[in-house]
Amino acid sequence: GWRSRAAFKLIELDDKFKLIRPGLRVVDLGAAPGGWTQVAVKRGASSVVGVDLLPVEPVRGAEIIVGDFNEPDLPDRLRAMLGGPADLVLSDMAPNTTGHAATDHIRIIDLAELALAFAMEVLAEGGAFVAKVFQGGSEKDMLVPMKQCFASVKHAKPPASRKESSELYVVATGFRQDRGRAVL
Ligand code: SAM
Repeated sequence: GWRSRAAFKLIELDDKFKLIRPGLRVVDLGAAPGGWTQVAVKRGASSVVGVDLLPVEPVRGAEIIVGDFNEPDLPDRLRAMLGGPADLVLSDMAPNTTGHAATDHIRIIDLAELALAFAMEVLAEGGAFVAKVFQGGSEKDMLVPMKQCFASVKHAKPPASRKESSELYVVATGFRQDRGRAVL
């Protein structure tokens, strides 16, 4: 079985956007307890590297780094473990909520922007990026650089995401390396 209800969100996003294919190299940011990692392996990814603040029970076919994605050396450790460009960068990272909506929104956008910057560095030509964001305004700022370097950028609310939650996902496909490197 899946380790998290969140697994169904990735299943629904993948069914709609066809993100995971056999042989792809996948990065899973905010991986614990491991549901998305399980889905990526199950759908044929050739390698999955996950990162989380919390330990993740081993998933066969995946490697996990326990650490804070905000640490400056973490992206390099991830890149070394990948051993090449990534085809798909996923981020379901979410900070602990403070209960103060505006603060929570800024904190999650920070994580999503960090994930985007990392994706723009490591994605292969044609690669894809998915990140959790929250509705509330500033998630729109990310769209400008994303539209410059991905062929398609869409927002999606998978049915498994609770209706009362303002969570949604940004799904960007068709990465153009030359443009991505220029934006950085
Ligand atoms: N996709 C996962 C699954 O299917 O099992 C669920 C992810 S959960 C919604 C969000 C995760 O983001 C938490 O496990 C949390 O520890 C992690 N997280 C939050 N901030 C982080 C950071 N700065 N670095 C690494 N992981 C972080």
